[in-house]
Formats: sequence, C-alpha cells, structure tokens
Amino acid sequence: MGEFGLIGRYFQRQALERAGGQAKVALGIGDDAALLDPTPGCQWVISTDSLVQGVHFPEPYSPADLGYRALAVAVSDLAAMAATPVGFTLALTLPAVDDGWLQGFSDGLAACAADHRISLIGGDTTRGPLNIGITVYGEAVSGRALRRAGARPGDLLCVGGPLGDGAAGLAVVLGQELPGSLTEAARNYLLNRFWRPRAQCELGAALAGVATAGMDISDGLLQDAAHLARASGVAVQLRRAALPSSPALQAWPAAQQLDWMLSGGDDYVLLFTLPPAQAALLPQWAEQGWSVSVIGEITVGDGVWLDGQAVTGAGGYQHFEESKHG
Ligand code: ADP
Ligand code: MG
Repeated sequence: MGEFGLIGRYFQRQALERAGGQAKVALGIGDDAALLDPTPGCQWVISTDSLVQGVHFPEPYSPADLGYRALAVAVSDLAAMAATPVGFTLALTLPAVDDGWLQGFSDGLAACAADHRISLIGGDTTRGPLNIGITVYGEAVSGRALRRAGARPGDLLCVGGPLGDGAAGLAVVLGQELPGSLTEAARNYLLNRFWRPRAQCELGAALAGVATAGMDISDGLLQDAAHLARASGVAVQLRRAALPSSPALQAWPAAQQLDWMLSGGDDYVLLFTLPPAQAALLPQWAEQGWSVSVIGEITVGDGVWLDGQAVTGAGGYQHFEESKHG
C-alpha cells in the first residue's frame, strides 16, 4: 500500500474527518492545505506536540492507547487556554506500514477526536523512526483566552482533578513493583488515566473571563506552578493537606503519594487562579460533577511555597536533564 492508500484507509475516515468543528472546516484532507472559517469575534488558538518513541511514551503500549493519548495531550493545551477544539493535523513518521498498528492508532485517535469533537484536517506521512506530531487548532473568544500571566495576590489557586495519577499510571505501565493493596480496579483506573487522559475542555471553557490565569499540568505541579508564578510575577502558596488525590493513589506510602502529586508528570488537569469574588462558582462546579479543589493561594512575591516553606530544586520532567522518568 502506498502513501495515498494509507492516508485514505486510516486517516481520511469519517470518524476522524467529521468528528466535530465541521462548520468551520471549509476544506479538509485531500488538497494541498486545509481551509478553516474563523468564527467572528474569536481568535485561533494553536499548539503543537511531538511524541517520540522512547522519550514521550513508554513501552509496552497498545497503538489505540497511543493514538488516544497523542491527541489528548495536544487537546489539553487548548483546554488550558480556554479554547474550543476545532481541528488537528497529524505529521506521522513510521518505520514501516503495519496495518494492525495503523488500524489501532487510527481507532484511538478517532475515539479521542469524538470525545472532543475535533476533526482531522490534514497531515503528512513519511518513513523513519516512529514520531507523532500533532498540531491542534481551537478558538477562543477574542481577549478571553486563558494565559499563564494574570494571577493576582489574593486569588485562589485551583486544580481541576486529582494529582499524581499520571506518575502512578506510568509505574503500572512500566511494570514496576506495585503495592499489594492496589486492587485490579485501581490498576485499571490508573492505566486509563495514563493512556487516556481526559483533556478538561469543558472546564477550560467555563474559565474564560472568570479565571485570571491558567495552564495544564503536564510536567508536575511544582514545576508548572513555578511557570505560572513567573509569568504572573507572583508567589504561589500551596497547602499540602489540600492536594487532591484519587483512592487508587492511596495504595502507595504517603511519601510516594506526595512526591508524585508534587513532581510526577502526565496528570493533564488544569491549574488556574480564581479571584475570591468568583468562589461561589466552586459549589456550582461540584454540582456539575467537576472535581475542582482549592489547593492554595496567590501572594505578593515569587516562587512556589509549600505550607509556608520555599520549594527549591523542584522535580518535574525536564527534557535534556536527569529525571526520575529517565
Ligand atoms: P503534499 O505532497 O501536497 O504535501 P501529501 O501527499 O503529503 O500532499 O498529502 C495529501 C493530502 O493528505 C493532504 O491533504 C494532507 O493534508 C493529507 N495527509 C497526509 N498525511 C496525512 C495524515 N497522516 N493524516 C491526515 N492527513 C494526511
Ligand atoms: Mg505532504
């Protein structure tokens, strides 16, 4: 099968091309480029992610999980900007044409595309070491995209879900020694959290014009909170006792839980700041089933503090440096 047969069979599929945002896709796969119609009063929000085998995803993996995860982590950047997903392009480099792999990958991609109503609008296919490049396109109401800058002293610091599941999920994927009390259900929950993270687009959209700053947590709370603090020119105060964790994480010793909640990566929950006047939204969000927690506050100053102590040498995954993932 040639390049065009491959594109036609695995990527020019209704499940991927018509997953959503159709009104805005004037021209999708098949020409030299795609055409998107902008919504008046909106700005395009664009982000690119690359996944390199051996660096960005562990083995063993199922191609369907990999397809889901590749798109989900890219869409999470749109959620972090309070953008609504529209479309994505896929730059795929493959060592060989493996039909089983391509079918699984395409199915996983389609499942994530359906979850976020985002359409595949184009891409490129080449031969070489496995590499998945995804660019996502979304829209935000002009001037209302959520940025890392904007947090103010007095704001509440919030997260959109439990912390530490990504790192615990990775431990399960890598076949590390697991606590005896970890149930089969908890194991599966963590595997799902790692391979099929749910980008928080609905929450992100609800934060437009409400939150003062926001981002998604991909490299660990401490490291990502430090980015927000620097961009906003403020200090982030975290409260240890307020950090939310899943029941599954509680199978590990407390010190391991804390380490993963603070420095583990791959959680893909939103981190954002809320003016105190917006605190009434918290119980409303809880009623909607969103598990938003207040984990601290913003003060004058700089850096990240945990229970009043400066956090130094914070972990979190940094490429080109020694790391716990490496
Ligand atoms: P060109 O040589 O003009 O760049 P290609 O042959 O690379 O065109 O691609 C033909 C069409 O197929 C284009 O519309 C392109 O966006 C699309 N395409 C190629 N690879 C992929 C892919 N992996 N996923 C989705 N669309 C793709
Ligand atoms: Mg091309």
